[in-house]
Amino acid sequence: MLNGKRALVTGGTRGIGRRIAELLVEKGAQVTVTGTRPESVAPTGCALQVVDFADRDALLAFAARTGENAPDILVNNAGINRVAPFATLPIEDFELVQRVNVLAPFALCQAVLPAMTAQGWGRIVNISSIWGKISKEHRAAYSTSKFGLDGMTAALAAEVAAQGVLANCVAPGFIDTELTRTVLGTAGIAELTAKVPARRLGTVDEVAAFVVWLASPENTFISGQNIAIDGGFTRV
Ligand code: NAP
Repeated sequence: MLNGKRALVTGGTRGIGRRIAELLVEKGAQVTVTGTRPESVAPTGCALQVVDFADRDALLAFAARTGENAPDILVNNAGINRVAPFATLPIEDFELVQRVNVLAPFALCQAVLPAMTAQGWGRIVNISSIWGKISKEHRAAYSTSKFGLDGMTAALAAEVAAQGVLANCVAPGFIDTELTRTVLGTAGIAELTAKVPARRLGTVDEVAAFVVWLASPENTFISGQNIAIDGGFTRV
């Protein structure tokens, strides 16, 4: 399905991004992932680029390099969170989350657009969150970034769909990752899943399958959307 396509997945060394990268490889794409640490291990068959988006200069240099050899598929997956009460959230943390979760996707979208529009084909998937559709306490930095990512994606989609470039957000809900299990524990997960209509966590496979489909030539008319994969959580 993706033979001959080149893909870039940011934050592809762990969690959701890693599974997206693996699936892109399985479907025949040539995949590069980013990680922040030289010791990070890329999925089998993927090239690794080390870049920390918290470092503005490093981010812009990486975006410039990406533009020189632009992929056909861009998945902006790398993301961070800082959970704190609104009143005491350090402004540095707020700024950092916007840099990694919004500025990096913006810079990379900008970098790949000339090549994608020139060839008349491109797919961009930005990984948002249910906290980019609704919010809750202590999520000011994260929700600002993910709502922002949605707005940026809508504006981008409006400009480039006619040139064959489709851009969407995917908003995962509670996903069964190592981090989720460590942070919530068994009791926390049970409490959480009771609030999800599907009564369970989602899997990285479920997120990856949809992201890869959206990024493929099989998606011909979906653009500018922010689609939740959340077992119905944001609709009750
Ligand atoms: P994760 O397991 O924490 O992995 C994060 C990835 O991003 C890693 O590859 C990491 O690289 C990279 N990364 C971290 N900080 C970075 C930085 N400053 N600059 C560049 N790259 C950085 O993440 P995840 O839980 O799979 O989440 C992936 C995306 O899904 C994020 O955008 C997140 O907001 C969103 N999401 C996740 C969930 C969930 O339940 N997990 C739910 C909703 C939305 P290294 O390994 O080298 O550190």
